Amino acid sequence: MTTFYEFQKRFPDNAACLEHLMNVRYGGTEIDCPKCGRHGKFYPMRTQLGYVCQFCGHHIHPCAGTFLHRTHTPLHKWFFAMFLFSTSRHGVAAKELERQLGVSYPTALRMAHLIREHMTDVDGENPLDGDVEADETYVGGRKRGVGRGYRKHKAVVFGMVERDGDVMAKVVPDVKRRTLEPIIRENVEEGSTVHTDELRSYLSLEKAGYTHRTVNHSEGEYVNGDSHVNAVEGFWSRLKNSIRGTHVHVSKKHLAKYVKEFEYRYNRRKETHRIFADLIAQF
Ligand SMILES: [Zn+2]
Repeated sequence: MTTFYEFQKRFPDNAACLEHLMNVRYGGTEIDCPKCGRHGKFYPMRTQLGYVCQFCGHHIHPCAGTFLHRTHTPLHKWFFAMFLFSTSRHGVAAKELERQLGVSYPTALRMAHLIREHMTDVDGENPLDGDVEADETYVGGRKRGVGRGYRKHKAVVFGMVERDGDVMAKVVPDVKRRTLEPIIRENVEEGSTVHTDELRSYLSLEKAGYTHRTVNHSEGEYVNGDSHVNAVEGFWSRLKNSIRGTHVHVSKKHLAKYVKEFEYRYNRRKETHRIFADLIAQF
């Protein structure tokens, strides 16, 4: 579903969204009642976001236990917000949600955070393998400068890219070995070839069961045979462009979610039509 027309046809109102949740979470509106055990029809309630058993009157609230529960924002606006997230190439700023949905800015902000969190939950993470590039970068803070003082105000993002495959990226506290190595072990299959720059934190990767190849950036050697980190650097430049294009300022606190959202978009870049379907497939 990639057009607004298709969205509007499929989810014209709150009732259609609620029925979708009922289908996804309970398998439909004709089910075995969890209370009386009889197989029958559940009817939508008039005054609440819920369904009621035709026999015993038992209530089911399909939003319970999801981020859609106890929200004052109509379900239809939530679905529309998820649709906007899935059709935008770079992400949606809260300002944009505020404008498109006609909700307050704080509400838009909260919705954006919850949808980003949901994206992370939906994003199943398979370990990377084959040729994997790992690299670290600095995001945010002051725009210009070099050296340690400049980096102090920035957040560190660590990323790993399987060549022609998926990306895994996250905000990390520092670039020490004890921070980075466990993340590599957790996300990259043993026996893979890991390409990195010459940061000392990577020096024990061979011992950890990987083939380790390095590129020496400081000597201007960007390609050493087939050892390069071009794929992960491509990812960094897209991430930074996207942050610049969508958000005036991303605080360290929100950067973590934003990086995860971008990772999610990047991993689905060849099948963007599936994003919305994925987002509404599990709650
Ligand atoms: Zn019942």
